[in-house]
Amino acid sequence: MAIREKLRVLKSAQERTQQRAQASLKKPELKVSEALRRLETYDSSEGHFDRQERISGWNQEKLCSAHAVILGAGTAGNYLAAGLSALGLGRISILDTSRELPKHEDFLSFLCSSSSKAESLEEAVENLIDKSVMVRIDSMCAGIRSLPGLGKIDFIIDASSSYASKEGSLAYCSKNRIPYISISADSERCLVSAAMPGSPGSPGSPGSPGSSGSSSSQYSLDDRMLLFEGKRQGIIPSGIAAGLALDIARKFLMPLKNDVMPDEEILYTLCSPERIFYGDKIKMENYEANHEAKGYSIEDRVLVAGAGAIGNFAALALSLSGFKNIDIADFDSVELANANRQVLICDRDSIKRGRRKAEALADRISRISGLNVSPIIGKVVDSEQELDSYDRNNGIIAVTEDFVRSRSYRMIIGGVDNPYARSCLNRIAVSMQIPYFDAGTDECSGAVRAYIPGKSGCLECQTGIYGIAEEWKKRKAERDSCQLNDKAPSVVTSNMIIGSALAGEALSAAAGLFPSLSAVSYSSASRHPLFVSGIGTAQKQGCPCSARH
Ligand SMILES: [Zn+2]
Repeated sequence: MAIREKLRVLKSAQERTQQRAQASLKKPELKVSEALRRLETYDSSEGHFDRQERISGWNQEKLCSAHAVILGAGTAGNYLAAGLSALGLGRISILDTSRELPKHEDFLSFLCSSSSKAESLEEAVENLIDKSVMVRIDSMCAGIRSLPGLGKIDFIIDASSSYASKEGSLAYCSKNRIPYISISADSERCLVSAAMPGSPGSPGSPGSPGSSGSSSSQYSLDDRMLLFEGKRQGIIPSGIAAGLALDIARKFLMPLKNDVMPDEEILYTLCSPERIFYGDKIKMENYEANHEAKGYSIEDRVLVAGAGAIGNFAALALSLSGFKNIDIADFDSVELANANRQVLICDRDSIKRGRRKAEALADRISRISGLNVSPIIGKVVDSEQELDSYDRNNGIIAVTEDFVRSRSYRMIIGGVDNPYARSCLNRIAVSMQIPYFDAGTDECSGAVRAYIPGKSGCLECQTGIYGIAEEWKKRKAERDSCQLNDKAPSVVTSNMIIGSALAGEALSAAAGLFPSLSAVSYSSASRHPLFVSGIGTAQKQGCPCSARH
């Protein structure tokens, strides 16, 4: 879509939002002429939302005209605000009663210092790449009593750690027939539940909230939320919970063809190798690390391969869950079309300068975590000969087995976007006998697979990655020769969930928790959107990966 056409759509959507919003706003509306100037500042062939608009049935206008309320500006609230603005929600209101300073885990607002938690988060989202063109964000140092003053609300996500807040927000939603999502998190687990007006499990039908005549009897509070009362929200569980909540909200606002709405509470926990539980089967086990059995440590030097959307969320979560020595490798540069999902690196300056993703991400995470995270401008390849003259002229180095050995990495965290790089990382990990945690996503699903020498089979044994990589290389050569555009559709939700789950698997291996030896998977087409699948211990005959010692 041309910039002017896009603006016309955005403008009409925004006008409708404005008409609906009754609340008094602190900020004047952005003039369309100003918005156009800002958009034209970027010399990019792809726009901000292009990657998600490639998804079949996607309707950006619907998102642009919606109003979301986030209760709680803690870690989970930070993920929600980042995700909603990346998606391009028309209006986001943030409510939090706290005047405490943001913590490191409040990864966006940590770098801001307004007088309240909610305002710091508002300021932080404003600082993200020109969301102000499409997204209006307001905040209040206030609680649920201020909800009636916010005008028409399309959905509320209560991400607070207060049972009283959840009780109040649920009652408000129930009375006003507003979709309600609750997320709770502590350092090892998260609980997600939702209540929608209309029948559950039918995202094809809700359309406009409140229009359905069926009962709203699903509005009841889960007592298990009490276990999270006042708890500090952990970075990994918060990312997973927020990603799942955003997915539910998106399905409600803008259902896509294969969507299925989850119909039970979801628990994700690092305290059990089963990892994910639903509804009545939820077990709130207590965490007991087995430090004897781990073999790996959060002190180990780890390589994060890929600074794209998965890498953004994985590196963030690793750095804030205790990993101390993190290097990030990527050769790509930041561009406007990344802004709908790579929330940590798409600031105005990085896009304008076409900064390297590895540099922008390492920089950002160093500032948030206080660690010294190092960038590597490098490409994952089997051998140095695979680099072409463009790579060499642009200072891109080869991330090969020799390189990984020379840096003494003890773990590889893979967020790469193609099977060839995956196959290279797998060969390196098998040869060096170090764990390789791999993640991949598309617009509606994703999976994390773990290769832990002696415990599970490698990626070749689990998925046959070498054959897939060969096939991919052949097709890529064909595409390149026809100069076809092969940019895949992509969205923030699957990356937030899977990037966080990727860090979760690495952490559980390094901290003596319970690594899941099955794939941790996500699918928006399942009523159980997060699940474990496959048997990671399988080993192909002749593969040197030593699945079992
Ligand atoms: Zn193998």
